[in-house]
Amino acid sequence: METALRDRLHLRLAGRSKSQLIEEMICRSPHRSASQKVVAGLKVYPLLMLLMARDYPTRIWVLDRDEKPSSAAILDSAARLRRWHSQGIQIDDCEGLTDVVDGQIAVVVSWKSLLTIRHEFAHASTTFLSPKVRSALEVLYRRALDQDALVEPLAGESLGEYVACAMSYCFFDDLREELAAKDLPLYRLVDGILRKADAISQQLI
Ligand SMILES: [Zn+2]
Repeated sequence: METALRDRLHLRLAGRSKSQLIEEMICRSPHRSASQKVVAGLKVYPLLMLLMARDYPTRIWVLDRDEKPSSAAILDSAARLRRWHSQGIQIDDCEGLTDVVDGQIAVVVSWKSLLTIRHEFAHASTTFLSPKVRSALEVLYRRALDQDALVEPLAGESLGEYVACAMSYCFFDDLREELAAKDLPLYRLVDGILRKADAISQQLI
């Protein structure tokens, strides 16, 4: 990494830890243990990705049990009305969602599932992928659709879901193996993105 870029990122980080960056993104949580679970769940992400998401900015609205995603006050009516996926499922059929609202990334997620927490944040962090990486992912997505190399049906819904499923799977040993077995080029690419972000993060602390 160029020295000038490293210095800029170092200044932006201002000594904050991963936990601090995540806490700053959480704009609402039903109780302390819910935020603690989200912080623990997202700490697996490279510091660089957390910093970029925090500064975009990204706001995380943590849902309690039985709360519906549509109840999140950070969503606007367009985001609430949008239908997701081919089955035309509605917002409240989802365990979480990520959308851009008023120029900010809005992540709405229940604290119940680590996989869902990591999946939703993957949508936020893939916002920052370069056009080059994006085109490489697009090629792999087409290939995976043709060869039926999807880890789950959700991954076939869009390029965004394909990548978010892959990235969140990378943070669990068993799921990472499953991804590598099903779609090795995707696993290599996403794992490489995370490793590179980790290597840059090391230079910032
Ligand atoms: Zn998703």
